[in-house]
Amino acid sequence: MGELSFLDGVNRYYDEAVATLDLPPGLGEKIKQCNSVFMVRFPIGFRDGYRIFTGWRVVHSEHRLPVKGGIRYSPEVNQEEVEALAALMSYKCAVVDVPFGGAKGALKINPSEYTDGEMERITRRFARELVNKGYISPSLNVPAPDIGTGEREMAWMADEYLRMAPTDINAMACVTGKPVHEGGIAGRGEATGRGVQLGLREFFRHEKDVASAGLNGSLANKRVIIQGLGKVGYPAAKCLHEEDECRIVALIEHNGSLLNPAGIHIETARNWYREHGTFEGCPEGTYTSATRAVLEEECDILIPAAREGEITAENAGRIQAPLIAEAANGPITFAGHAILRAAGKVVIPDIYLNAGGVVVSYFEWIKNLSHIRFGRLGRRIEEARGDYIVDAIEKTSGQALPPDLAGKIRWGSNELDLVRSGLDDAMRIAYQQIREVLLSRKDIPDLRAAAYRVAIEKIARTNMEMGV
Ligand code: GLU
Repeated sequence: MGELSFLDGVNRYYDEAVATLDLPPGLGEKIKQCNSVFMVRFPIGFRDGYRIFTGWRVVHSEHRLPVKGGIRYSPEVNQEEVEALAALMSYKCAVVDVPFGGAKGALKINPSEYTDGEMERITRRFARELVNKGYISPSLNVPAPDIGTGEREMAWMADEYLRMAPTDINAMACVTGKPVHEGGIAGRGEATGRGVQLGLREFFRHEKDVASAGLNGSLANKRVIIQGLGKVGYPAAKCLHEEDECRIVALIEHNGSLLNPAGIHIETARNWYREHGTFEGCPEGTYTSATRAVLEEECDILIPAAREGEITAENAGRIQAPLIAEAANGPITFAGHAILRAAGKVVIPDIYLNAGGVVVSYFEWIKNLSHIRFGRLGRRIEEARGDYIVDAIEKTSGQALPPDLAGKIRWGSNELDLVRSGLDDAMRIAYQQIREVLLSRKDIPDLRAAAYRVAIEKIARTNMEMGV
């Protein structure tokens, strides 16, 4: 099978899943297509003259508003890629019950070629172009970070919107992924990576599913390879290593990899990489200049957390991992996926597994609309109730509770606790819905097809009940 483009691949997954549903004629096609594409070119003046930048904001489905999805800064980006990513956002939001439509944005730029001051000017100008046309708005279209952007860009965009709409009391809800002190929410930074951990935990709660990948037991001691130690890969690696006792046997970055069959200490490796810009010389493992080839090393769980199109028809046949957890958007091509499926590999799909980011974005948006930190009102009441319970137990039993247990009972939830709890709930429920479809239908071959079916069914229902 030849390779399809990213967008054609996403649409093929869609077509296969929609064929298992009995939708009114035309509705399936309507949901599949992007609703609108905004392309903008704008000049920025530098010392040596003007440079023209090209950006996009693609709206895929507006069955619910606002539409949601990140803005990517990359020199390689093109409109088709943004369309594919916008479609993934619609499906992702539906899978995890985030009441948003899907969108995505991009600016064709290599951020490393510009100073911080220049990036600020470019980002503010891009934001103005988007706000002017309604492509940034708390009620209509809410961007977030993606590859090449982060808290810093979101703060500039929020500030730019605020300047243009100073009377909008909900202005801060115009983008998510902001710094915590500028209207952001605790736990957004780690959210996508933690979602990957929580998704894997849920997968491992189902013995049958684990067995279908030829594995057994819990996450503890599983050998994991992670590609990409950035916004998604780093927290995923850290959570799995520190909290689930996974053995991270390889870390792959764009300029080399670090291998250690006994397990890599993530914090040390990350600090080394930050300081030196390479894994070379890191005492946590053996360095190799190989990158993609390391995806093919032996392990239990392979987590591509970098970008799209990493596992293709060319290398899929050599992947040894029985379980592949898609932390990036579209890391496996359509042809690559067909090869993995034929080889009996289990793929936990992106539209479920990396949805943690948008789940917590949704919480941030709610926080901005309610203008209050989660936990602010109830935390001390919870604590006081914990005190009563500990007192009551100790008085009636005549014994002191072990301090760690008493501490847990006395704990009042703060914002981070509540965000993590909400994320865990979203990841658990969504997986259960997906596996239910996979187990109950003969025409659904794998978790990806099941996730697409779940998403399409929900979007179609809204379209039918609310009107298209
Ligand atoms: N860019 C992230 C994604 O691909 C987050 C989107 C959001 O939070 O809106 O899911």
